[in-house]
Amino acid sequence: MKEFQPYDITLEPRPDWWKVRLPEIAEELSKVRKGRVETILPEKNMQAVFYQEKEFPAPEVRWTAAASSADPNRYKTSGYDPQCIMMIAGVHGAEAEGVITVLNLISLLETGKDLRGKERPVLCDLLKKYRLVMIPCCNPDGRKISPDHMRGCPMEEFHRISQGVWADGSTISWAESKQYFPLPLDRVSFPGGYPNGDGFNIMHDCAPGRLSTKEAAAILELTERCQPDLFLNLHSQERESLLCRPGVFNYAENVRRGNELAAQVYRALSEAGFPALEPKGASQALNLNTAAVMLSGAQAMTYESTTDCGLSFDGLLESHYVMLETVLTAGSQEPFAPRNKR
Ligand SMILES: [Zn+2]
Repeated sequence: MKEFQPYDITLEPRPDWWKVRLPEIAEELSKVRKGRVETILPEKNMQAVFYQEKEFPAPEVRWTAAASSADPNRYKTSGYDPQCIMMIAGVHGAEAEGVITVLNLISLLETGKDLRGKERPVLCDLLKKYRLVMIPCCNPDGRKISPDHMRGCPMEEFHRISQGVWADGSTISWAESKQYFPLPLDRVSFPGGYPNGDGFNIMHDCAPGRLSTKEAAAILELTERCQPDLFLNLHSQERESLLCRPGVFNYAENVRRGNELAAQVYRALSEAGFPALEPKGASQALNLNTAAVMLSGAQAMTYESTTDCGLSFDGLLESHYVMLETVLTAGSQEPFAPRNKR
């Protein structure tokens, strides 16, 4: 694995509570007492945190077979109550907003206060209604070489930090980065926080029978094991925040339900005064979310938080709280994944 130095850029200093560097993530996870921490990929120190865990027997069937049977419930031996939410963050290493959000959720669950020392009782109560599985940092290699945040970052620098820089100094654009799998690391001066240390974009490492990264393998193994009802994939973008509609390579009922959730989050963010993009269109992307659907029948959705749009660090975190309060409230009224209506 070729070693790269962190991207050299001076941005506004972060507040003390914005702990998104690898040793800081490890330190926060070392404080977990009410939940359980499991190392799911030792060589990258990739960890998952569990709350409200429930013992359940291993299923006698995998989802793809059960879904075609007369009784798809045979897969979900964990039962339907409480539902399970699996939250993954930092699949793209430069996108630290999801990472800091998950660490704040852990702090809320452990102490009743987030890393700023602030209470959020409504969210705290909602979180306790679900089985929770959270991976705070799915791409430690990318996180290691990325800045702490991208507030105030010029657009050109945003792309260089995220997608990387060719050896001749030119910027690797967002879509161009997806023309390579892996990104040829011998032809770049900086690989961006997007891929893992071998140049692979973990988000798109989802082809059945041919996974290229241990990170994706660990995430997907955990997905099948935990039987999530909602698989929430936390990302960031330079634009306004958006709970993306679910991909259309999916169950029609998951798409219907996911579109409802996306619209509810748009309304909630707008009403709370946070920058929000109206969800439109239908994504045909194939990615980890698609694999999560195939493994578990989950409702799998990506949240793209803004990295800036004029929000303070507090605003970046609190906009995630609003999104989560909206989604978790909706899930308590109607299941996330209508597995019986596949
Ligand atoms: Zn991303």
